[in-house]
Amino acid sequence: MKIIMLGAPGAGKGTQAKSIAKKYGIPHISTGDIFRANIKNGTELGKKAKAFMDQGMLVPDELTLDLVMDRFAQDDCKSGYVLDGFPRTIPQAEALTAALAQNQETVDYAIDIAVPDEAIVERMSGRRACLTCGATYHVVYNPPKKADVCDICGAALVQRDDDKPETVQKRLTVYHEQTQPLIEYYEKQGILKQVDGTKDMSEVFEEIIGILG
Ligand code: ADP
Ligand code: ADP
Ligand code: ZN
Repeated sequence: MKIIMLGAPGAGKGTQAKSIAKKYGIPHISTGDIFRANIKNGTELGKKAKAFMDQGMLVPDELTLDLVMDRFAQDDCKSGYVLDGFPRTIPQAEALTAALAQNQETVDYAIDIAVPDEAIVERMSGRRACLTCGATYHVVYNPPKKADVCDICGAALVQRDDDKPETVQKRLTVYHEQTQPLIEYYEKQGILKQVDGTKDMSEVFEEIIGILG
């Protein structure tokens, strides 16, 4: 099963993608997590990506596509995957469609998690991330057992630099300009499913399971 998660920054793509990956036994591929791992390890890619990410801008398509295509080539992707944060532009979506078409494959579902902009800023200001294992928390809606410590690996939780309110505004603008058009793109392909992302995390997940079966 090949699934794409769509939605504004902070809509809950990562939260839901992790649950989907676990339930259906497919890898969760987050381009944001891959970029952050590269930044943490001080790679060339990480240095280039950071300059864009810190400003709330998208990393250029060439850099992103190389990285994603490498990831798809790994063995665990044979049974499918859930993509979180990719594609984010029409050229990325077209590149994905073309790459899959080479093997007569297509994406099965594009799930759009709908959350109004007003709710996004609150979600982002409360998000805390573990940069060691990729877990995500919210100080109110999904707090860790012990404040600022990751339940899974024990590392210290941080607020991402790009989750500060000024950068969130910029990311929302970029989302509306460059990513939102993907909703129509996948609607035309007949695979778009929309879910109400303002509900509780568990209710959103139930709605998604209802779609995926
Ligand atoms: P969010 O959780 O808010 O959706 P991500 O972790 O997916 O954010 O992405 C963080 C940042 O990484 C983005 O603002 C962007 O700069 C960069 N990024 C992630 N995925 C992509 C992509 N597919 N194309 C371009 N830039 C990306
Ligand atoms: P995205 O990957 O789309 O940027 P995340 O999954 O990281 O979004 O969620 C953003 C923040 O909102 C996180 O702090 C997360 O714990 C929280 N969150 C996710 N889904 C919900 C929900 N349905 N209700 C309230 N908070 C949520
Ligand atoms: Zn952790």
